[in-house]
Amino acid sequence: MIPALMPTYNRADLPFEKGEGAWLWTVDGRRFLDFGAGIATASLGHAHPHLVQAIAEQAAKVMHTSNLYRIPQAERLAARLVETSFADSVFFCNSGAEANEGMIKAVRKYNAETGHPERNVAVCFDGAFHGRTLATLAATGNAKYLEGFGPAMPGFKHVPFGNMNAVRDAIDGSVGAIIVEPVQGEGGVRPASLEFLRELRKACDEYGILLAMDEVQTGVGRSGKLWAHQWAGIEPDVMSSAKGIGGGFPLGAILAKEKVAKHLKAGTHGSTYGGNPLACAAGNAVLDVVLAPGFLDQVDRVARYLWRGLLALAERHPRVVEGVQGAGLLVGLRLVPEVSNGEMQSAAVAEGLLTVAAGMNVLRLAPPLIVTEAEVDEALRLLDRALLRCTPSAAKDAAK
Ligand SMILES: *Cc1c(COP(=O)(O)O)cnc(C)c1O
Repeated sequence: MIPALMPTYNRADLPFEKGEGAWLWTVDGRRFLDFGAGIATASLGHAHPHLVQAIAEQAAKVMHTSNLYRIPQAERLAARLVETSFADSVFFCNSGAEANEGMIKAVRKYNAETGHPERNVAVCFDGAFHGRTLATLAATGNAKYLEGFGPAMPGFKHVPFGNMNAVRDAIDGSVGAIIVEPVQGEGGVRPASLEFLRELRKACDEYGILLAMDEVQTGVGRSGKLWAHQWAGIEPDVMSSAKGIGGGFPLGAILAKEKVAKHLKAGTHGSTYGGNPLACAAGNAVLDVVLAPGFLDQVDRVARYLWRGLLALAERHPRVVEGVQGAGLLVGLRLVPEVSNGEMQSAAVAEGLLTVAAGMNVLRLAPPLIVTEAEVDEALRLLDRALLRCTPSAAKDAAK
């Protein structure tokens, strides 16, 4: 019989009851070190006192009023995002897919309103992930996810990630934007080179089209900078954010330059929940922590510490790990074909460590941004044991 909870996920049998910082406890008292953070979402870890207090206090006052009225918490959060990014204006919604859906609408509107309604196609990349709604599925372009949900929404074409010649070849009179993740998260924690991001910016300027950045997974400090594209020293024209921005509370955002945002006039786009007082109280509490002096420096420091440890582990386990890739606290272990990331993920669970699988047989690590070096040491110790579990038996003795 079908479970009451629709079986759209292969769930691990781990019902968590409580959390604290980077740790989670199951209902039967087993403790896990959480290096998945609810898929790079619990940016402040679990039960962060400041976030908990902000949500509790706001919930006791007013949770939801709708966008028919002014929302001071949203105005404040938008102003802070504008102040700390390339953007001039922000739209709030509830998830990554919804943010991308709105971002796609924003670039289409921009092109339509600036005399190029024919530029309704976005160049996207092989290995991308932009969400599960119909438009974002088409932007994702993964045949497996699209199967049975056809017809795919038109307006997207895909080229190999990192291939600038292919990008330039793809830009014809129908193209109005390029949509890119600075690090492909679901697709395998594959970073774009900083040079590639700069070249994308250049091509967009050259052709007068928009650079749309999907920072749903990479944003809000995960890379060690507030936004991952800042490592390349470039600015997009429009960007989506979600996951870490609410620290676990559902919140998404579209950040846009004025030239894009000004075309989304009253009545062109909306969301009933979007930017409600409760979600924005959570968003503001996350920013209180992430923007505090020294916080991102510490993220960068602990990330480099994690990377050093992972590179050493990769060297110690050449029979299992092919390489380490990603940015900041979004890191992937690329595994050899003989060891699946699912197998490795289960081995980590058996050792008490939570991770997330990603595409291209990558094991993804995305600890909360508040993770300490001592917790990184512990994770490395558990990973070392999990890697031994997964080492093909002939190689096991050599690895010891
Ligand atoms: C997770 C993710 C999405 C989709 O976000 P949802 O909140 O699941 O809708 C979109 N883009 C990227 C890069 C993501 O990592």
